[in-house]
Amino acid sequence: MTVNTSSPSSAAAGETGSSTPVRNPIGVHALVFVGDTSRDSVAEAVQRTAAAGYDLLEFSLHDSVNLDRAATKALLAENGIGAACSRGLAPDADVSSEDPAVVARGQDLLRESLQLTADIGGTVLTGALYSAFGHAKGPLTATGRQHIVGVLRELAEEARPLGVTLGLEVCNRYETNVVNTARDALRLADDIGADNVMVHLDTYHMNIEEDDFRSPVLEVGDRLGYVHIGENHRGYLGSGHLDFAEFFGALREIDFKGPVTFESFSSAVLARGLSNDLAIWRNLWDDGDDLARQARAFIDAGLQPTA
Ligand code: MN
Repeated sequence: MTVNTSSPSSAAAGETGSSTPVRNPIGVHALVFVGDTSRDSVAEAVQRTAAAGYDLLEFSLHDSVNLDRAATKALLAENGIGAACSRGLAPDADVSSEDPAVVARGQDLLRESLQLTADIGGTVLTGALYSAFGHAKGPLTATGRQHIVGVLRELAEEARPLGVTLGLEVCNRYETNVVNTARDALRLADDIGADNVMVHLDTYHMNIEEDDFRSPVLEVGDRLGYVHIGENHRGYLGSGHLDFAEFFGALREIDFKGPVTFESFSSAVLARGLSNDLAIWRNLWDDGDDLARQARAFIDAGLQPTA
């Protein structure tokens, strides 16, 4: 399954010569440019996203953002930029909890996030929708898992008329105890049993948990709906040790046409809670525009069909 996005192909229009335009919508995380969602910051992020040649802008809803929904939707539309939203849950609002009150607050947070996604014209809500973000103190319980399945099944029903697809992002063991591998995500998606719930792979997390960068992609196949491209240290693509050739090759192998979003973090751009929860302590870059342009070219080259 691929995600239905309304992203334009304008980013590929300027490409000439031997390169074939990339078919996937290519996205960038807003934290490459700005650390908050004030009206001015959103305007700046949209403008810089368009300038760097991207089709899609991803907003983190991690800090219960309070952006101007109508203005954001209008800005995105004016610039021909699609939107995706991502988040993890919180310890006191966690659908994987055994405590029904904590689960209910998690469900409220997810519903609010779904509505925000729809209100800004977004077509994807993804991330750790299934648990609090952070180092779990023990394994997921059977009761906690039942709660996740029940809540996400309802959320998927609510997302359907809004035209939003839900993603289960596969995250590493230090950030969740629910979904650490592609296989975990497939099992959870099977239990939820909704065709608008897809798997979201992220190379940063895959590096920690998977055997390699190819087999999880093939195992997920047409249930892959969203991709995060990030280096092992979350800095400039190609400056770390990840085998992106293997990963992009696998995406081509399954003929993936969904969004591919560049995710990178630096202490140069800080978001209140998210930067701390993601353990962003180092300054890996300070020029988001240069970083974004380099990443766009890197992703384009990776997705090029081989001759
Ligand atoms: Mn990610």
